[in-house]
Amino acid sequence: MSLKKLNKGLARAVVCTGVNVQPGEEVYVQSTVYAVDLTREVVRMCYERGAKRVVVKYRDEEISKLDFAYQTADTLSHKPSFMYEERNYFADVDGCVINIVCENPNAFEHADADKMTASRRADIVGLSRYYDKSMSHKIKWSIIAYPHPEWAKLMFPDMKPKDAFRKLAKFIAKTTRVNNDDPVEAWAKHSAELKTRREKLTAANIKHFHYKNALGTDLVVGMPENYVFGGGVDECNGVTFNANMPTEEVFSAPDCNRIDGKVCASMPLCYNGKIIEGIELTLKDGKIVDYTAKTNVDLLKGIIETDEGSRSLGEIALVPYDSPISKLHTLFYETLFDENASCHFAIGRAYPTCVKGGPEMSKEQLRAAGINDSGVHVDFMVGTKDLEITAETRDGKTLKVFENGNFTKEFD
Ligand code: ZN
Ligand code: ZN
Repeated sequence: MSLKKLNKGLARAVVCTGVNVQPGEEVYVQSTVYAVDLTREVVRMCYERGAKRVVVKYRDEEISKLDFAYQTADTLSHKPSFMYEERNYFADVDGCVINIVCENPNAFEHADADKMTASRRADIVGLSRYYDKSMSHKIKWSIIAYPHPEWAKLMFPDMKPKDAFRKLAKFIAKTTRVNNDDPVEAWAKHSAELKTRREKLTAANIKHFHYKNALGTDLVVGMPENYVFGGGVDECNGVTFNANMPTEEVFSAPDCNRIDGKVCASMPLCYNGKIIEGIELTLKDGKIVDYTAKTNVDLLKGIIETDEGSRSLGEIALVPYDSPISKLHTLFYETLFDENASCHFAIGRAYPTCVKGGPEMSKEQLRAAGINDSGVHVDFMVGTKDLEITAETRDGKTLKVFENGNFTKEFD
């Protein structure tokens, strides 16, 4: 597939299915200087669909590196408000937000972790109007990826740079279903399959899940009463949208007061341009009481110690070991892809949509329902080939949900 065709396919997928732009809407596009052609195609398609205004914000990791090198932690944590107002504006007007991911997963390998944490914490507060609306699906948002030369090199170190780039482009096209003649139709079919799976899990009325594998995971995850499983297509004011492209997961929120045991990550986590390997968490009554990692443990510490809610989990996501992304047998070093190759949890905030009536509840009501709140939401992967998940229902039945890393027939 030529890059021109990839750009057209990705733009169509993210504009028509991703945020599903409606006439008169305002669209904010966050992109990087490495994805200019795709960004232009996205803007054109937004206008063709009737968007009233489209605003593009380009990131440049080389400039961000300079910012982290030369600015002090204090400067990074006191950014002028105009740096946040733009994105918050699009939340205020119920606009659409498109994020194009195209970076080197290792870009900030040498950046100061404390400065990065300080900057990120300021951003969480500065963008709270945006996050409040996006997490409860009160605005439409979508993330899509574009190949970056350094990212391709990290994934395929033995290939010539040009071939590695092409291979990553091919993987992105395949996993985001834009190698089909009509990506919009392909996404509709895929969403219908995920819908069946999420409805079965919601109907099962599960009290808790029990995860076990040879890696050392042995974790009991309580579920809130009236939990809802989501996945694939979402809805915002009656209009459908797809937040992640690709997506293979069905997900809900755990009861953040009832998670006990140990969970071991099965893949490295790439976060803010650094790679955290070998994460292990121990939880008691929903709180992370102990944690380790083989690399960048200071970054993990920064995540877990962000606030009260970052000491618990906010997402439980089920992905079969044989998912199409997992079958590529390639680590992407990018959560958007890796989380769809593996069962995962998120440290931090839960989606209020994961409990019946959640988006209309106050923060206090959500907390009472066991729905976690935090400034962070960081997915980490836990699925393995031998993962077993059993569930106990509220009426005392024991069900097998996962066997040998995949859904049992009952839930597939
Ligand atoms: Zn997820
Ligand atoms: Zn997540």
